[in-house]
Amino acid sequence: MSETATTSTGDAALFDPTAFRLTDHEVELTTLARTLGQEKFAGRASKWDRDAVFPTENYDDMHAAGLLGITIPKQYGGAGASFRAYCLSAAEIGRYCGTTALTWNMHVCSSLWTGLLADDLEMSDAQREQHERRRPIHYERIVKEGAIYSQPFSEGSAAAAGFQPFSTQARKVDGGYVVNGRKIFASLAGHADYYGVLCTLQREGHEPSMRDTHYLAVPSNAKGVTVVGDWDPLGMRGTVSRTLLFDDVFVEDDAELMPQGVYFLAASSWPHMFMTLSPTYMGIAQAAYDFTVSYLRGEVPGTAPVKRRMYPTKQIAVAEMRIKLEMAKALWFQAVSEACYKPTKEQVLRAYATNHTVMETANDLCRLAIRTCGGQSMLCALPLERLYRDSRCGALMLPWTAELCLDRIGREALYEPGEKDD
Ligand SMILES: Cc1cc2nc3c(=O)[nH]c(=O)nc-3n(C[C@H](O)[C@H](O)[C@H](O)COP(=O)(O)OP(=O)(O)OC[C@H]3O[C@@H](n4cnc5c(N)ncnc54)[C@H](O)[C@@H]3O)c2cc1C
Repeated sequence: MSETATTSTGDAALFDPTAFRLTDHEVELTTLARTLGQEKFAGRASKWDRDAVFPTENYDDMHAAGLLGITIPKQYGGAGASFRAYCLSAAEIGRYCGTTALTWNMHVCSSLWTGLLADDLEMSDAQREQHERRRPIHYERIVKEGAIYSQPFSEGSAAAAGFQPFSTQARKVDGGYVVNGRKIFASLAGHADYYGVLCTLQREGHEPSMRDTHYLAVPSNAKGVTVVGDWDPLGMRGTVSRTLLFDDVFVEDDAELMPQGVYFLAASSWPHMFMTLSPTYMGIAQAAYDFTVSYLRGEVPGTAPVKRRMYPTKQIAVAEMRIKLEMAKALWFQAVSEACYKPTKEQVLRAYATNHTVMETANDLCRLAIRTCGGQSMLCALPLERLYRDSRCGALMLPWTAELCLDRIGREALYEPGEKDD
């Protein structure tokens, strides 16, 4: 299966640097991401999708380009990207390979959360000292050795939705922790070097609490770690999101990605950390639109140069797609621009609305693209049917699934914290 439609070079920036007033650093990073996406990832995307294999080659390229450390602070050898700069770069990659952008997000979270997010959090002097001592260990592995981290938190319970403590548990022992549990949908399973596991710290005489969530980097080759189950899904097939089992896995204290109790602070005071899955789908939405325009103009490489743009129905469909795309982009740009520590209620509601809009719009644009372009456009030799399948996954990603965004917006718009009806 060859995929030729997205290999042409010269795509314009997803967010025009002048119109959106991007910083020089954002232009530099997004140009790098777009160039890699166009020149390398687009041509390989069908391979990962067809065989449901992890895009190892792309990770080698991202390591060489310095993108594995994009959010690692500069003093540790990373690119020191801001939240927005990372999101913009991930969206550029999402245009060309959803699997790469999505798994890159799982990897980047480990350094985004321990980096600029953690810098904002209120920690005690002892916690800060410990964090400053431990995080360089993880950063050095990523920057120097190209180590890949992943982010397994889903367990098939209400924990990943943010409503109950994780069942995966860590018990403190001399020199480290013993981890036991099971994670489902663990993207990069069998390919990450470290699994950034969210688990509940067991405390003698205490009921498990979400405040005791602990964040540990479990080496993939540690004794007691196994990858089980198959992976043959509808979309995002190259994420290889199989099940991880942890059976009395010992990890050293240095495996801590955050000091005890700090993950809960991050989750409650930096909520935009949960919208970093959206850039991938922002990129997919743009790709569906770009494909449609190209196809209707008879310009998709590898297809007959038949123009279909003269039909009013096609023009109206493209206009509808453009309006949906512009709305999603404007909202998304605002939300990633204002992401911060302790955002206002308005900013949080907008973040939920953004996540919902981007995930649903990406799939809607892919649906409209296939309907408008027609039967030949959905053949597997072209990228549109993959975009369509990949786009379907966005709304399912916890903790901010499309349903849960609706749920949160409705409740939090109508009730102040702690407010009841009686
Ligand atoms: C391609 C792909 C890659 C993924 N990669 C990762 C990964 O790397 N790491 C990871 O941790 N997870 C990952 N996930 C898992 C994802 O985040 C979700 O956990 C998973 O899709 C949930 O599936 P489920 O069937 O268990 O959903 P369920 O928990 O059964 O939920 C089904 C739906 O019900 C709703 N719902 C769930 N809980 C509640 C509630 N308490 N109240 C109201 N409504 C609720 C939600 O809308 C949800 O979509 C991935 C998923 C996909 C599709």
